[in-house]
Amino acid sequence: MTAAREEMACHICLFPLNTLGTPPTYVHPIQLATDGHQPVPVPVSQLDTVNRHCDFCGDPYPAWTLVGGEVTAVAIGAAAGLVQNLGHAWAACATCQTYIDDDRTEKVVDRAMQAFGLGDHPQIRERIEELHQAFLNARQPGRTLITTTAWPATVITARELPKVRDRLTRFYRSEDSLPTALAIAETRHDIAAGLDRAGLFWIDDDFTDLAEYAAEKLPDVTINRDLMPSTDGLLVWSRPVTPRQITAASWTTTSDGWLLINYRAIGGGLDGKPLQRLREHVGWLAPMNTAQVHEQHVLPGTQPAAALLATWLLIVQQAAEVTTAEADKATRKTYARTKRPSPEVRIVRLRANRSTTPTGIRSAPGDLGSPQARRFWVSGHWRNQPYGPGRALRRPVYINPFLRGPDDAPIKLSTTVRMLSSHRTKPDD
Ligand SMILES: [Zn+2]
Ligand SMILES: [Zn+2]
Repeated sequence: MTAAREEMACHICLFPLNTLGTPPTYVHPIQLATDGHQPVPVPVSQLDTVNRHCDFCGDPYPAWTLVGGEVTAVAIGAAAGLVQNLGHAWAACATCQTYIDDDRTEKVVDRAMQAFGLGDHPQIRERIEELHQAFLNARQPGRTLITTTAWPATVITARELPKVRDRLTRFYRSEDSLPTALAIAETRHDIAAGLDRAGLFWIDDDFTDLAEYAAEKLPDVTINRDLMPSTDGLLVWSRPVTPRQITAASWTTTSDGWLLINYRAIGGGLDGKPLQRLREHVGWLAPMNTAQVHEQHVLPGTQPAAALLATWLLIVQQAAEVTTAEADKATRKTYARTKRPSPEVRIVRLRANRSTTPTGIRSAPGDLGSPQARRFWVSGHWRNQPYGPGRALRRPVYINPFLRGPDDAPIKLSTTVRMLSSHRTKPDD
């Protein structure tokens, strides 16, 4: 008997690796065209993002892991290069999952034939069908959400936030599993309860830019409840932030401190029934990584929660102007029906000296007016500042010429500010 070996992926290209021989050598999948690099195996559980494909049809955005019959190394047509070493856990994209749920598995075979450019060769079709059936006939109940898929970006608006929260809450209470690497199987119901009472925060474009930039240089932060703008919360940035492409983060008060969770947006690029199902069963957000922290816990500024911590700190130091938006009519009605108070979304904007904003902050050249316009705050830095009773505590405060200081000191207009374009081709200094 051999213990189940943990799945590995290549740290460079993020593709899951196949194994050869005993002890195992890790190799790139044969059909994968790499730039020639040697695989660098790391356990999949340590990666936020894995370049997995649907094992039924090759779609690059798999949504679910299914467990079924053990299927080993099957190669069909050397020219087509289809080599699958699948084992008993298969990744399924939202479309294949929809067909499987609806008992239309012939449609899944169609997708595989199309994706691999196999035309309608009847013998190959038959073999693929056999392969799928070998797996599906032994399928075990349940499924696990794949949280490592790098979906195309999805915009979540402030108005949608109550609905986004409600779907996420429902997913946490559902039967669908989450990867064990997230280590939240036991706390799912507590997270759902926390989300029910969570303050909802939507961070606007400028504040998102500032928070992302400031997060890059975040020093170590001592966790303290005063840092958080509400006891429990869900916060969405106007676009995905940091190289991890985090769209949202939640914090939940637990018996032992707080559970911080980063989320990615899912379902981008889907439409029709598969999108509808995904929104219904999971919603808009999938947890990417989690951290349990407690009072006085020192979190290094480089860890995954940096974007959330930087955003909290900027709100706490009053760099933010917070307004409240009502949810849309449909959401208000839904809440009224279930006798819940109408949800409020707090919109977080940059509190800047209005007279300096138009000239002081500008978009990258050529990006004006585009929704992708990126702005960079290249000056500014964190400084540990005393606060609290007897000024005995320390927390990082972001010092930036566009922000009023923590003591509401006037902005120093003489401060030189340099801006870089998003492509960094022509640093204008
Ligand atoms: Zn690689
Ligand atoms: Zn598929």
